[in-house]
Amino acid sequence: MRAIRFEAAGSIRLVQLPTPIPGPEEVLVQVLAAGVCHRDLHLLDEVKAGEREPLIPGHEIVGRVSKIGGDVYTTTVGDRVVVHFEQPCGRCHQCKRMRTNLCENGHSLGFDLPGGYAEFVVARQGTFLPSPPNLDVALAAPLGCSGATAYRAVVALGEADEDDLVVVIGAGGVGLSAIQIAKVQGARVLAIEPREEARKAALDVGADSAVTPQDAARALHDLAPDGKADLTIDFVGTRATFDLGRSILGTGGRFVAVALGDESVSVTANDLVDGGKAYLGSYSSTMADLARVIALADAGRLRPVVTRREPLAEAAQVLNDLRAGKIVGRAVLFPGPMIP
Ligand SMILES: [Zn+2]
Ligand SMILES: [Zn+2]
Repeated sequence: MRAIRFEAAGSIRLVQLPTPIPGPEEVLVQVLAAGVCHRDLHLLDEVKAGEREPLIPGHEIVGRVSKIGGDVYTTTVGDRVVVHFEQPCGRCHQCKRMRTNLCENGHSLGFDLPGGYAEFVVARQGTFLPSPPNLDVALAAPLGCSGATAYRAVVALGEADEDDLVVVIGAGGVGLSAIQIAKVQGARVLAIEPREEARKAALDVGADSAVTPQDAARALHDLAPDGKADLTIDFVGTRATFDLGRSILGTGGRFVAVALGDESVSVTANDLVDGGKAYLGSYSSTMADLARVIALADAGRLRPVVTRREPLAEAAQVLNDLRAGKIVGRAVLFPGPMIP
């Protein structure tokens, strides 16, 4: 099969590999479309720095079941599925509590297991769900990371509701999904984003307002009497975005950090105790989160913003453009036909 591999020197190569064989509890999925996530750039940097082994990226996967192992009973050959990249162990302390996103012994497609930038990928039973037949595969693919991650941050942890003013910092692929999910919850939504095109996309998907970081305070006063947010979600992960999010958080507010980042931030006890605020980290997502976003997409209430569709062989160019900030929302790669 053809696949894209991140090589040790940091190069992105199209390679020919044997098609994998699924184990007894696994399925072989023919990849129809794979979303390109910002996290892929971090992985490329880590491989280049020698912090990770070379890998096949791709963790937003939709495909068709092409072979099943002998102990697989939840799907049949030919089914179209959205694959969750997390491959939890099912046995550890966290898995027993259904916190499969925090599995202590798990692996992840596109990270330490071969991912979806390939013609085929192997996934464990229980890590995929049916893809609605009428849902465009290019829109279904981003549900696996962008959609489910946003749902976890906005609803599972953020508990957004109709009384809330939700501030989304960073209107990239995940942020644009978060805006739509917050609107489904009935909240008012302010997007903070420096790129003009991304602000426009934020308004297009339903944000009540979209402004630059410099204009955030003024926009908040237009949306809330006290000029404060009930829920602030940081999809960027820098000290600047943390400080911005903290400065606008109101009484009883929740700050949810989604992006990884290694800049130090400071929080005092007063920040936590005065006004009873919560600072939460949202890591990945569970199958329950994925099920919810598939249902929302099927109902037409969540539509991942896909602005670019390319054949798999164009992965290097697409990743370069993503790094340069030239892609609004998601780009999606097609290992096979562009209209599967
Ligand atoms: Zn991702
Ligand atoms: Zn586990």
